Amino acid sequence: MSERFQLSPTMQQLMFVSPREFEWREVAAPRITAAGEAIVRPLAVTRCDLDLYLALGAFPMPGEFAFGHEIAGEVLAVGSEVTGVEPGDRVIVPFQINCGACPFCLAGLTNACSAVPAYSAFGLAHSSGKEWGGGLSDAVLVPYADAMLVKIPPSLSLTAAAALSDNAVDGFRTVAKRLQATPGAPVLVVGGLAQSVGLYAVQAALARHSERVVYCDNSPVRLALALSLGAEVVDCDVADVERLDEQFPIVVDAAISAEGLAFALRSTAACGHCISVSSVPAGDDAGVSLPFREMYMKGVSWELSRVHARGALHDALECTRCGLDPGKIITRELPFESAHELMCDEAVKLVFTR
Ligand SMILES: [Zn+2]
Ligand SMILES: [Zn+2]
Repeated sequence: MSERFQLSPTMQQLMFVSPREFEWREVAAPRITAAGEAIVRPLAVTRCDLDLYLALGAFPMPGEFAFGHEIAGEVLAVGSEVTGVEPGDRVIVPFQINCGACPFCLAGLTNACSAVPAYSAFGLAHSSGKEWGGGLSDAVLVPYADAMLVKIPPSLSLTAAAALSDNAVDGFRTVAKRLQATPGAPVLVVGGLAQSVGLYAVQAALARHSERVVYCDNSPVRLALALSLGAEVVDCDVADVERLDEQFPIVVDAAISAEGLAFALRSTAACGHCISVSSVPAGDDAGVSLPFREMYMKGVSWELSRVHARGALHDALECTRCGLDPGKIITRELPFESAHELMCDEAVKLVFTR
C-alpha cells in the first residue's frame, strides 16, 4: 500500500440533516483496509439534479447522511492490488458503487451490481441504507478502485469531469444507443426538473448527429441554454398542452411530472421510444392517466431506468471529444466550503470547487 499524503485521523464532511439544513461535521477519515480500495480527495463536486430537490425537501428523504455524489478528485492512496490508478491521478468517481466483477457489472449494468446493497451510492445513503460517504468531504473511500475510477483526460476540466459521475452520463445514455441504431433520427427532449440531464441529452443528441433536436420547456433559463447548445426550442407548459403537433422517434422525458410524462409519451411517434430519467408520480396517485392504449396501438416503447453510471462512462467520455461538453451546462461555481448554505442556489447546475 502506498500513501502520498498522510490523512489526518479526522476530516470535514457535509451532512444533510433535514431540508435546507446542512452541517459540516468532523468525522473519522477513511482508511484503506482492503487491497482493492482507494482514497480520493474530491476537488470538484457538481450538484446532481436530484440533490436540489433533496435539499429543498421536495423529495422527502430521512436524514442524516453524507451529501454530494458527482465527484472528480485526486487519488490520495491506493491499496496493494490497485493497478489502474495511482496517487496523484485525477479521476472521475462514478456515483454508484459497483464491483466490476459480478454478472451485472460484467454486462455494463453497473447500477444493478449484486456485490453491494441495492442502490449503493455516494451521497445518497438514504437509498441503500449504507453510508458510503459523500463527495462534499475531505476524502472518500472507493471500495473497488480499478472497477470504478476513470482517469480524467487532459482535455477535460475537473468541473466537467465531476458531472460525468452522474448527470452528464445520464443525459448521454438517453439518446446514444438509439441514435446508433437509427442514425440521424430527430430527438425531442421534454425538459423540466431533471434540469441538467435534459440539457446533456440535447448535447449528446447533437454530438451523435441527430438531424434535429427539439427542446420543450417553460423555463426561460433552460430554454436559453438549450438554444445556445443548438436545439430548436418550444416554449410550452406541458401541464397545459396534451402533445406536440409533430411526433418524434426518440423522446427524452426529463420533466419528472406525470403531465410531462404523458406529454412525452403522446409526442412519441409510432414504433418510437420514450425514456424517462426518473421515477414520476403517475396513474391514479397523480390524477393523470397515461396514454397506454395509444402507446399500444402505435407500438410506443417506454423505458424507465436509472443510468448505469460506470457502464456508460467510457462511451460518454469518448463523446466529450465531439460535442458533449458538461462544463457548458454548469452555470455557477462556488467555493467548496459554502456548500452548507448555497446548496439551494437557483442555478441550473452548480459546482463546488477548491
Ligand atoms: Zn445523482
Ligand atoms: Zn458488480
